[in-house]
Amino acid sequence: MSLPVTDNSAAAESVPRHVRTLIIGSGFAGLGAAIKLQQDGHSDFVVLERSNEVGGTWRDNTYPGAACDVPSHLYSYSFALNPDWTRSFSAQGEIQRYIVSVADKYGVREKHVFGCDVTGARWNAGRAHWEVDTTVGSYTADFVISAVGALCEPALPDIKGIDSFQGEIFHSSRWDHDSDLTGKRVAVIGTGASAIQIVPAIAPKVAQLDVYQRTAPWLLPRGDRAYTLPERLAFKHLPGFQRLSRFGIYAMRETQVVGLAKAPTFMKPLELVARAKLRAEVRDPELRAKVTPNFKIGCKRMLISNDYYPALGRENVDLVTAGIAEITENAIITKDGTLREVDAIVVATGFHVTDSPTFETITGRDGRTLAATFDEGGQQGYKGTTVANFPNMFFLVGPNTGLGHTSMVYMIESQINYVADALRTAERKSVRTVEVRREAQDRYNRDLQERLSKSVWMNGGCASWYLDKHGNNTTLWPGFTFEFRNITRNFDLSAYETTTVAGGADIIAIGADSKDDDSKVVTR
Ligand code: NAP
Repeated sequence: MSLPVTDNSAAAESVPRHVRTLIIGSGFAGLGAAIKLQQDGHSDFVVLERSNEVGGTWRDNTYPGAACDVPSHLYSYSFALNPDWTRSFSAQGEIQRYIVSVADKYGVREKHVFGCDVTGARWNAGRAHWEVDTTVGSYTADFVISAVGALCEPALPDIKGIDSFQGEIFHSSRWDHDSDLTGKRVAVIGTGASAIQIVPAIAPKVAQLDVYQRTAPWLLPRGDRAYTLPERLAFKHLPGFQRLSRFGIYAMRETQVVGLAKAPTFMKPLELVARAKLRAEVRDPELRAKVTPNFKIGCKRMLISNDYYPALGRENVDLVTAGIAEITENAIITKDGTLREVDAIVVATGFHVTDSPTFETITGRDGRTLAATFDEGGQQGYKGTTVANFPNMFFLVGPNTGLGHTSMVYMIESQINYVADALRTAERKSVRTVEVRREAQDRYNRDLQERLSKSVWMNGGCASWYLDKHGNNTTLWPGFTFEFRNITRNFDLSAYETTTVAGGADIIAIGADSKDDDSKVVTR
């Protein structure tokens, strides 16, 4: 079934070119922010979305087998529970339909300008607003909420000769549905979360499938099943049943934080489960050796699948571990000199997370881009949401808000509450600009890195996209998610430098350390 698609790009002309709040991106984060603003009584905002539909990563990742590895009843907005989930772990199509239905239900679609790609954003200090360039013209905004997501810019491998390949080649998140892989010789590069779903989905229909593995991932069982009719009726009609189920899933998943972030030795039981699964599902000793990971479980994202190992055991599937030396116009040559001819290549090599090209396009107060700022000091922010030198800008799914164990929607909603409170505070106190104080940001990051130093992500013996080029983990939250919810419950103005407008004159208010009401106010 094709998804409903609305092209609103003509609306660009009717949207005011200056808005109080401008949201970039309309995945779970941007859409949730738009709904929250609307609920808070704001009407002066716009959502710029480069594609022609809401959904973000769930709109883009349409590869065969795409599904979520967080249970459906937790992987949804707390304010828009869906009693109609058909399975315990939803597939991409069902999640995308859910997101579209939420956009419609909350009536924020008309706030969107679709087909509007943001190409640049600059802080204008004189006017104290953001100047935002897009493919359909320019906007200015008092506040910007960047909700572009961490997994949106495909990372293509830098492999010799890849551009010379004459067959079909596409990234997992840009699946070419015009391409029919039936009966073809196909290569999948990568064995991450996307690849392990693609491989079993396409293996039965292709003639030959070569899976190029650089690092063997840890796999756990996927407890996926269809909900029975009585369960679905209960979710719909039994008061509290769905909330209770959601809380049960949440609580179970939070227990993993102990092993992941605090004491990696507690990951041992999960590793034993994964080893037992591997022994049971991979009988061939040679293949078993190849797929046995060489790092501690949890160091890289733990994957869940019941059909990946069986797919690798198929007659028409080869797991190649020799490493790719070169790609020619019709083949992949590995470092051991073997040449394997292919008709199509699926590049499942992940995303630019700590080095997103979008960072290049945002220029802060001192004229430096977000990319340059992150390049120098690492990808650091305050409470994952604000970054020194970038006043009046809020980042959803910003630095150190990622998770390895539970629903990102929970983190996103925490951030949205924080931003909404910031906007309310700005209104209440006539604040014109807010910028996190460098000391507050530095203190916050020292504490984060201290906590992360005990985690399996830093001690598990693996390389991963969780770490930036300085070797710091700037992507993951190092604790229980309710701790993040607590620190983002209220906007802490005292951590910010602010300017206010009073009687037409600009006033700089320097926040005090403990209570925002103690702020010293000085005239500029
Ligand atoms: P990923 O987890 O970053 O995996 C990329 C894979 O490509 C890894 O196996 C990596 O090997 C390999 N690779 C990268 N560059 C390579 C190169 N030059 N040559 C050979 N191999 C190379 O990317 P992903 O699978 O797209 O997943 C990204 C994230 O999206 C996940 O971590 C998860 O957060 C999310 N996701 C979630 C789901 C779900 O909920 N089910 C599904 C898909 C994605 P190394 O391990 O050696 O680096």
